[in-house]
This record gives sequence, C-alpha cells and structure tokens, in this order.
Amino acid sequence: PRGGEPTSAPEDEVVHEVIVVGSGPAGYTAAIYAARANLHPVVFAGSVTAGGELMNTTEVENYPGFIDGIQGPELMSNMQQQAERFGADIRYEDVVALELEGEVKTVTLEDGSVHRAHAVIIATGSAYRELGLPDEKRLSGHGVSWCATCDGFFFKEQQIAVVGGGDSALEEATFLSRFASKVTIIHRRDSFRASEIMQQRAFEDPKIEVLWNAEVVAINGEEKVRSVTVRDTESRETSELPVTGLFVAIGSDPRTALVADQLELTVDGTIQVDGRSSTTSLAGVFAAGDVVDATYRQAITAAGSGCVAAVDAEHYLAALH
Ligand code: FAD
Repeated sequence: PRGGEPTSAPEDEVVHEVIVVGSGPAGYTAAIYAARANLHPVVFAGSVTAGGELMNTTEVENYPGFIDGIQGPELMSNMQQQAERFGADIRYEDVVALELEGEVKTVTLEDGSVHRAHAVIIATGSAYRELGLPDEKRLSGHGVSWCATCDGFFFKEQQIAVVGGGDSALEEATFLSRFASKVTIIHRRDSFRASEIMQQRAFEDPKIEVLWNAEVVAINGEEKVRSVTVRDTESRETSELPVTGLFVAIGSDPRTALVADQLELTVDGTIQVDGRSSTTSLAGVFAAGDVVDATYRQAITAAGSGCVAAVDAEHYLAALH
C-alpha cells in the first residue's frame, strides 16, 4: 500500500508518504504542516533527546505568540500535541541509519526495524559544543547559555563571561555588552581566531575585557550561576570571576552523521539546500532547522524552515504520484 493511510499491512510493507527525523521546532512544524496536508507523517522524535534543544532551557521569550514568554519544554510539548492533533504519528525512537537514494527511502531504528517513505525530512538539529564541566547542564537556563540573542536580555546591568575566541564568541560578547555592565571574554590562547573587524569591535568596546590564556574549570552556584573558576593555562593558578551569566561560544556541530556520506554538505558542515528551499542534493530528501543553518539558529527560524520542508515535500509527492 502507498500513502501511509491506516493499513493492516505489516510495518515493513507500508511505504509512508513522509518520515520526519527529529522533533525540535523544525521537525514538529514539518509534522504539523505535513499532517494538515493529509500526508500522515511518521515522526521519529529521538528517545532521550525528543523535543530538541529547547528541552534544555527555561524561559523562551522571543518565540512569537507568547506575550509573557513560555518555558522551553512547554513550548515543545505544545508543538508535539499540535502535530498529534492533526494525526502525526510520533514515535520516541532513534534513527540509526538512512538509505536516501531512489524513490523509496528507508529509515532504520535501533531495534533493527526498517521503515519506508517516499520523502524524508531531516530535522536533526545541531549540537552546541559544551565545556564538559560537571555543573554546566544543571545550570543551563540558570545562567549558563549558548545563545546571546535568546538570553542577553536577562542579564541587564550584570557581569557576564563569554568563552571562546572565534567570530561567534566575539559577536556574542559585543551583542551582550548592550545589556551587561561588563563582559569578560575568556579565551584559551593569547590571540583570537575571529576576523579583524570583529576583534576591532570587541577591543573598542569599553565594557569588554579579555582574559587571555585562561580556561573555565568550574561553574559555581546553587540555583543560579554566581561565579566561574578560571585557570591561567600558563601559571596554572586559579581565580574566581564573579559573573551571573556564562555564554559558551565554542562552536556547534550540525547532526549530519546519518547523512554525511549521502547528501552534500556546506563548508560549515550543515546540509546543503537549494536557495530558500529545503531541497537537498537527493530527490525526495528535505532538510530543515539548525542542521541546515549556521547563521540564525533560532526556534522561530527552525520552525519556519520546517514549514518550508513540509511544503516542499508535499509538492514533490504531488508530482511523484
Ligand atoms: P533541535 O531543537 O536541536 O532538535 C533536533 C531534534 O533531532 C531532536 O528532537 C532530536 O531528538 C532529533 N534527533 C537528532 N538525531 C536523531 C536521530 N538519530 N534519530 C531521531 N531523532 C534525532 N532559540 C530561540 O529562538 N529562543 C530561545 O530562547 C532559545 N534558547 C535556547 C537555549 C538553549 C540552552 C539552547 C541550546 C538553544 C536555544 N535556542 C533558542 C536555539 C533553539 O533551541 C534552536 O535553534 C532550535 O531548537 C533548533 O531547532 P531544530 O528543530 O533544528 O533542532
């Protein structure tokens, strides 16, 4: 049978219209649009990571429609229920392999089961690199952040630190100096990798200070970040820097392991899509969200591109059948 309509055929004989891999804002939005286009999407949401990055945060204040903001997990639960309301079939399982060539794509799960579809939407997101410190996860959303655009506003007139030395670290620091009373950039080396223009902007900013040859070795605070412990990489001496916010800007890795040998990637490591569309280098394969975006990386942009992917998949399927 074709079309993914309810059927009595065993799972491996069904060819679904569309399978969505990922359940962040991109995956769930794709599922809402695909379900409302009657494509009966199956969503492989991931097991422990279902709901995506916003499950790791507290308040989300920049997602339109919520005047007083909304908690990240609540926003994701809303999206999940909205997709289910239109019939999306959400399964909390991890995909371990994808076979994306040809007219029928296969998706293999951890338990070995194989699922087939005419179109696949990849919405696996991107992992922000972490410092790997014991209290980093616990204090995420309570002072530890990976996104100045998202959280800068919470740190008005406070002292904060940014870790990193590339363009994004300096961009975050410059952005944060609008709110903070002081921004300390903590960098492992004695020079930045960032572009000249970004460096100049940071050096000229009276609120920005740089701690060279320094690394964060501990994040301190019970409910919220109170300070960070910094170690000089040369003298090995440690000191405590009183900050209420720590922005980690040491890069991110688009989750492309399942597709890297099948789809074209960009120099940033994201999945290459054609212009403003979600079309990848393989017919019937669409990509959305942070896995295609090294620039904006917001819930709203991810959701927008999830919509694009579902519409693109719908057009592709209409032409196919
Ligand atoms: P993600 O949300 O990363 O979701 C990826 C999905 O892929 C997950 O569901 C995961 O389970 C799934 N997945 C991955 N691999 C597999 C697999 N093999 N099998 C099955 N599923 C898989 N943005 C804002 O706009 N506002 C904010 O306030 C904000 N705060 C943030 C706070 C934190 C702590 C972080 C880390 C990010 C924040 N962001 C915020 C950024 C925002 O979370 C991302 O831009 C957005 O979540 C990207 O959505 P996505 O759907 O592309 O990917």
